Amino acid sequence: MNGLSSEQIAIRDTAARYARDQIQPWHEADESQGRFRREVVAEMGALGFWGALVPETYDGTGTGFLSAILITEEIAKVSPAYAGHMITQSVAVAGTILSHGSEQQKRQYIPALIAGRTIGCFAATEPNVGSDVAAIGATALENSDDFVLNGTKSWITNAPVADLALVFARTAPRRSGISCFLVDLHQTRGVTVRETEKLGQRCAKVGEIFFEDTHLPKSALIGKQGKGFSTLMDLLGNTRLFAAARALGLASTCLHASLEYAKTRSQFGVPIGNHQLIQAQLAEMYVTEQAARTFIYKVARDKDLGTDSPMDVSAAKYFACEAAVRAAEKAMRIYGAYGYSMEYPIQRYLRDAQAMVITEGCSNIQQLIIARHLLKA
Ligand SMILES: Cc1cc2nc3c(=O)[nH]c(=O)nc-3n(C[C@H](O)[C@H](O)[C@H](O)COP(=O)(O)OP(=O)(O)OC[C@H]3O[C@@H](n4cnc5c(N)ncnc54)[C@H](O)[C@@H]3O)c2cc1C
Repeated sequence: MNGLSSEQIAIRDTAARYARDQIQPWHEADESQGRFRREVVAEMGALGFWGALVPETYDGTGTGFLSAILITEEIAKVSPAYAGHMITQSVAVAGTILSHGSEQQKRQYIPALIAGRTIGCFAATEPNVGSDVAAIGATALENSDDFVLNGTKSWITNAPVADLALVFARTAPRRSGISCFLVDLHQTRGVTVRETEKLGQRCAKVGEIFFEDTHLPKSALIGKQGKGFSTLMDLLGNTRLFAAARALGLASTCLHASLEYAKTRSQFGVPIGNHQLIQAQLAEMYVTEQAARTFIYKVARDKDLGTDSPMDVSAAKYFACEAAVRAAEKAMRIYGAYGYSMEYPIQRYLRDAQAMVITEGCSNIQQLIIARHLLKA
């Protein structure tokens, strides 16, 4: 199915089983309370879920992008929130250290991140800087001994529970003046974190980080000074595809929940699935889900081969995230009043889906990237 190898099928099935048996039983209650379980991160780390992009040298499994996408999709079918945690922890933080960090940084941080012993976050967004990340205003001014970081980061996934932050800050006034730093959130003075309440995906914590005259050693720099913008573009070039996989997992759950309901709910003397207008909605959900999966797996294979294009990553992200919102809306209509009830998870699907068209770059921005590449060709 979908040209997966037997190893990839085994990885996918392990993730599916874990999500169904270990997350599903408590997930809806935790979502309504906004509870995050650190032990779940460690369990997934022990199963090797976080290490697919990391070679064995740093304790990863090295099974590649498509494997990591399959794991993300399966976790997201049950919990888009924990799948989001997973992407931040492994793809954004460990992945960036792997691509841009020094050998010492790789050895020090990557094994702990992918084992789930250390929780990581990445911090680009600021109260006045969202889509236009080149306008980052946080500053990291260099002294003879260290860098002094000042500024506020907002909407940072994992921030309230994180140990380590990958922070993008300005070391010079130009676009080329952005640099990337690793900040130990517990051991560094001048760091405050505040949780942000949000609409959905409430098991994943999001917050603001305030840096006030925060002194960072020179060894905190990731990659070269002034190269942080391209590091951030590399990071987003990976995390966007995983956002697409999260959206795909959610869209798939919406379809299956709708199918189940269409078979069991009767109106006018027959299951509502017998009504052609319901059938049309189910068919539309199926076609979109299949198209998203085929597209995402193709881009993941391209990534494994090193032949991927930023345009296709944005296209997959745009298509799958918009599809998740439409699938959740359709599920809510198919469920009628029960979809609107807090006793059923359909309202959670709709709330969760809304994050997908914003996070890792809004849909408008993905459309701009796609069009820019098309017009350049
Ligand atoms: C749940 C969640 C988790 C997040 N996690 C992280 C994280 O871990 N780390 C992090 O750094 N950030 C994170 N973010 C922030 C996210 O990356 C930003 O919200 C996103 O990039 C958009 O920025 P903004 O919300 O400020 O919207 P804005 O940039 O203010 O955009 C507002 C609206 O204007 C549109 N718009 C903006 N510019 C243009 C344009 N040129 N053309 C057309 N339309 C435009 C946008 O599409 C959007 O509809 C997270 C956000 C959410 C919701």
